[in-house]
Amino acid sequence: MPGEGSPNADLMFVGEGPGRDEDVQGRPFVGRAGQLLTKIIKAMKYERADVYITNVVKCRPPNNREPNPGEIEACKGYLLEQIDLINPRVIVTLGNVAAHFFIPVRSGVTALRGNFYPYNDILVMPTFHPSYLVRNEGNRELRKMVWEDMKKVMAFLGKK
Ligand code: URA
Repeated sequence: MPGEGSPNADLMFVGEGPGRDEDVQGRPFVGRAGQLLTKIIKAMKYERADVYITNVVKCRPPNNREPNPGEIEACKGYLLEQIDLINPRVIVTLGNVAAHFFIPVRSGVTALRGNFYPYNDILVMPTFHPSYLVRNEGNRELRKMVWEDMKKVMAFLGKK
């Protein structure tokens, strides 16, 4: 389950790791969280095929637990190679695991989101994981914050 999308994408989304649906289908973000990610991408006036979607770890950790540091380290080379080949202008990280891959600080995504962080010549925008939005469906404030973050990405990429 390496990832999918355009090899020329300006915009890359990085999640945590495949869940059950992704493991079965061999594609990233195809379950409930994935459906919400697709909606977010469309709201940004892109199609899934225009962007590149991948995860920090490429195999599903048992029982949906977070990937551990050894697993992240084992998969690191794949993600770095994907970034190198696609060379996006912006990477949107989804949730804490992906945010901390690029921004190794103690603060979580709640504190980090809403700002760009430089990573080589790429800008990283951390935002909440769509699974978190699905789990907190009634919380409109969370959705609003994600949308604010995505609007900053759109403005940077010249999307109106
Ligand atoms: N959650 C993730 O972090 N990645 C996926 O591909 C699906 C759900």
